[in-house]
Amino acid sequence: MTCPSCGGELELQDDFFVLTCSHCESVLRIVMPEIPPAFMVRRKASQREAMFQLDRYCREQGLPFVSGAQVTPVSYPYWKLDAVALKVRHTTYEVETTDTDEAYDDSRTEEREFTAINLAPVSVTRLATQSTSGVPCSLGLRTDYLRMIPFSQESTEPDTTYYSVNVREDLARATAFKGVVEAGKIDYANAAKNSTEIFGSRASVIHFPYFRVDSVTPEGIRTFYIDGVTGKVSGSAEQTVDSPVLEMEDSSAVQFGALKVSLHRCGNCGVDLPATRSCVYQCHNCGRIAFLESHALLQPTLLSVIGTVKESTHFPFWSMQFAEEDQSALRKIFGGILMSDRIMVPAFKIRNTEAMYRLCKRMSAAAGRIEFAQIETLSPASAPATVSLREALTMVELLWHRDLAGREIRTNIDSGFNPISVQLAFVPFAKEQYFYVDAALKAVTFEAGALA
Ligand SMILES: [Zn+2]
Ligand SMILES: [Zn+2]
Repeated sequence: MTCPSCGGELELQDDFFVLTCSHCESVLRIVMPEIPPAFMVRRKASQREAMFQLDRYCREQGLPFVSGAQVTPVSYPYWKLDAVALKVRHTTYEVETTDTDEAYDDSRTEEREFTAINLAPVSVTRLATQSTSGVPCSLGLRTDYLRMIPFSQESTEPDTTYYSVNVREDLARATAFKGVVEAGKIDYANAAKNSTEIFGSRASVIHFPYFRVDSVTPEGIRTFYIDGVTGKVSGSAEQTVDSPVLEMEDSSAVQFGALKVSLHRCGNCGVDLPATRSCVYQCHNCGRIAFLESHALLQPTLLSVIGTVKESTHFPFWSMQFAEEDQSALRKIFGGILMSDRIMVPAFKIRNTEAMYRLCKRMSAAAGRIEFAQIETLSPASAPATVSLREALTMVELLWHRDLAGREIRTNIDSGFNPISVQLAFVPFAKEQYFYVDAALKAVTFEAGALA
């Protein structure tokens, strides 16, 4: 994948959709495919560095010095799965209650229960090819800061053997989150009541480089895998003459989506749009408002709270309108959203999912008392909309489950969660020390530090 303007290679980070080409400064937009995209990490360590580290490793481990070994640059695919986990944990504890009448009697104990509900992002990587002894089965936490480029035939290194993906996405998903789900069952007493649910998982593939070093020992072959980025030994395996020979499965049947790059320009007049990451833009030249996403529910108009407020930031929310017949049931969710006829999902990123849940709940309740009007011009004070409508729809489903988990009486909408239309609505918030307070009602707040 290269820049459509200058042909230069593009380097990507995990969270992107608009970027500036480092070669020609063109503003570009990345269009994500419907099927999982594949990325690759470029080799950073040289073979010399890798061998140097290996010698050191062998000395430390008391292994024979590796010389004359065969070095093969290889690349293994990993599934990367990102989701949000809803965790419900019950803890029972005893409190002493002393009876005043019989002071010298044994104190009695009373059992109390504490329920903790929490939403937390989970990100897991899993080897996407049959497990090979010595090859790490996960990339760990480093995927957060790894530099990647889209995986394509042109970007591969000619001397490297690329193993193909032959673990299906659904199987990878099932095993990847199993550990997360089962961690909640460790407390046997509460295992039946505790639960972990996984929502909205996104998948991608990362091809990661290693050096494979095969050294012949008197017993057989010792194989080392050296990390192609750090140059450090990441695993080893011994194979004797008696070891079973691994049968390689057929190459991949798993298909990946290619990323597309287009120039980030106004569709009406053609000028470059700003490189801010947002789902909505207004062209500074011709004034046209454009959404990057197309969705059947999305209305092309923008809403804002009536009456402008000075010194405020206009934060975007996805305002999801519900059908008349669902409204009475809806008002009971989120602990009662009163006269509101819509759910307001923040369209900006909040670091903590629990904080997101609270803001969604408060804003949904407040929306019934706030007057909105259609706007033609995006205020310069508006914050970029960095959460797409698709993400917001997954989020609202999750928040709803989060809400139900915390309540004794369940409100279920049999028809499911079906908004009939969605608009992007801006709500001004004034910053008061560590908090943002909504300017219309002064009722909804969120921590300034929660902004991602
Ligand atoms: Zn360029
Ligand atoms: Zn324009």
